[in-house]
Formats: sequence, C-alpha cells, structure tokens
Amino acid sequence: MINIFQPSLGDQELQAIKEVFDSNWIGTGPRTKKFEEQFSKFIGVDPDNIMMTNSCTEGMFQICNVLLTPGDEVIIPTIGFVGAANAVISNGGIPVFCDVDPLSLNTTVEFIKNKITDKTKAVLLIHYAGWACDMDPIIKLCKEKDILIIEDNACSVATIYKGKPTGALGDFGVWSFDSMKILVTGDGSIIYAKDPSILKKIKTRSYLGLLSESGYSSSVDQKWWEYNISYPGRRSVVNDITSAIGLVQLSRLEGFIDRRKQIHEYYNESLNDLDWIKTPTPIYESGLSDRESSYYMYWIQLQDESTRDKLAVYLKENDIYTTFRYYPLHLVKYYNQYHEQLPNAEKAADTTLCIPLHQALKAEEVECIVEKIRSFK
Ligand SMILES: *Cc1c(COP(=O)(O)O)cnc(C)c1O
Repeated sequence: MINIFQPSLGDQELQAIKEVFDSNWIGTGPRTKKFEEQFSKFIGVDPDNIMMTNSCTEGMFQICNVLLTPGDEVIIPTIGFVGAANAVISNGGIPVFCDVDPLSLNTTVEFIKNKITDKTKAVLLIHYAGWACDMDPIIKLCKEKDILIIEDNACSVATIYKGKPTGALGDFGVWSFDSMKILVTGDGSIIYAKDPSILKKIKTRSYLGLLSESGYSSSVDQKWWEYNISYPGRRSVVNDITSAIGLVQLSRLEGFIDRRKQIHEYYNESLNDLDWIKTPTPIYESGLSDRESSYYMYWIQLQDESTRDKLAVYLKENDIYTTFRYYPLHLVKYYNQYHEQLPNAEKAADTTLCIPLHQALKAEEVECIVEKIRSFK
C-alpha cells in the first residue's frame, strides 16, 4: 500500500537518540533548549517568543486556557482540526464555525467578518494543506475589532506569506510534529506567542505551575525540596529524545519540502488536462508571487460525492491510500449545538480527496498514482 503520509526517519535520528541515551539525561534539558533556539532562528523570532510542548492540541489548550473567559466566542474554520474546537469548549469558550473557500479550503476575511459578534475573542485558523490564508485583510480586520489571531500552523511548518513565516503572523501560533506531519518527532509542538509575558505564563502552567525560585531549581541552598506553585498547572513538557529527533529533522526540512514541491508540481502537470478533476493548480499559480507552501497535502476535487467515493475505493483496491482532511467540525455530532449551514465546506467534504504526498515517495510510485487516477474513467 502506498501511504498517504509517511515520516522520513533514519540513521541520523538514531544516532541522535543514542547520544541522548549516553548522556543519561532523557528528560527535558539541553536538547530541548537547543531545539527552541534553532526553531526560533528558523522562523526569525526571538527565543523568548516560543516554547516546545508535547502536541499542537496541548498548545491550543494552553493558549485557550490563558485567553478565554466563559462565554468568549472563537471563530474556527469548519475545515479544521477537532482539537481546536475541543480546546475552546474545554476552556469555557464557544466555537463559532465559519465557511471556507471552495477550492483552497482556506477561510477568508469575508467568512470571518460574518461571524463576528461583541463576544468574539479570537479567530483560530488553519492554513489548509500548507497554503497560507490571505492574512493581510484578516489581520487588518482583527486589529480593527480587537480580536486575537491564533494560527493552527500544523500543516504549514515552512509556509511563507509575503516574506514572513505563518504561525508568527498573528498573536499566537502552534506547530505540530506528530507522526503524520512533515517534521516529525513522534509527538511534539512549538507554541509561538507575540507577547513573551503571556508565553511565560503558558510555560509555567505547562510545568505544574511551579515557581522557578522554589525547589525544582537547583539554586536553592537549603531545603530544596520545598516549593510553591502559582497555578494548578499540567505537565506538558517534552523530553530530550523528542528534541534530539527534532534537531535532525529540522536540518533536513528544506530537503523534505523541495521533494514535496516536485511531487506537487508533477501532480499538477499530470492531472490538469482531465476535465473531470479539479486540481489546486490555480492556487499554486496565484501563490507563486508572494507565498511558499509547505506542500503538506495534495487534494483533488471530483464532480460529486459518489464519484469521489468510487475513486477512493478504486485507488485503495490498487494499493493507493487516500483520505479527506478535515471532516467539517460543524457536522460532528458532538458539536451539534453549534451547528451552522456552511455550504462550501459541505460540498468540499463530499467531493475532495487527498492523495499521497510525502518526501519518501519514489518516482515510480508517483507515476503509478497518476496512471491509476487517469485510468479511473
Ligand atoms: C495534526 C494536526 C493537529 C494536531 O497536532 P497534534 O500535535 O497531533 O496535537 C492540529 N491541527 C492540524 C491542522 C493538524 O493537521
């Protein structure tokens, strides 16, 4: 079976893990600090603006935990990740789902504007498949209305919008390094906060709420086992095994993206002439001047639900795994009380199919995928 996502992990990562073992310190420590430093360089921000945590979901929970008061509304594009809505609801907020553009599956300033009320606290958006939303108008609107922007940057680890990395365009951003992403550490994440003092608060809450001058710091001369906390916090730090893998993966990231871009372009070129398929080529072409994608997913759109479903089964029978990301949140039964009618997203959920895209795909596999799609009709 050709996988839809697949990590690239090998000898370099194994060597880095061995070094952690040999150091006898596998907890959070120097490698985590180093990863934070290197990642801050990679996205061009100060190290005081970012921290590692154990998942993007946890990052969104922590951000909502410091921001929300009960009844606050957070606008979330319905083509988004379940953890985003959970983070809002768990912290007393109300998710307000909004629609997306039918082809890019990204939300736009118009869809956000329609959902603003005097209770809107934040917008929590994603950059679908690695392509940046058109952020300038969104940032302008949110500034005018005093609404915070949180970027779920899980799909867009290396995405650039007008010269700047996504994830650090708004007030908060969260990356994911889980097993199905591009840069993979097993589990892991980076949280960005524009305001370092809020980040510090999140950091404290992510480590049991411990005050650093208390016993957990080795600088206390006497009775170092006594301590105090400032908040009943959780423990969502990462260990140095995770960070050691991350350091190697970060050094390989550019190569991963280059290969994904090649495959993306090959799909565009090889599927464009089929009049029964829509490809993301127009997004690719219009983005060339001011955006750079992370090429996280490649998606095609069919004319109706039954054609899409049949193609998915046909490809599966030919050992090619496909899926659709992300099933609209407003259709999830558990969130029924927040239900809306969001026609673009509903149509996209019926007709869109994500096909394999990862840097480990071999040329003959990519050709085989194209050939099978072309032979479907
Ligand atoms: C994978 C993913 C997440 C979750 O990341 P975790 O690190 O597994 O919590 C969040 N948002 C999007 C868009 C994702 O694709």
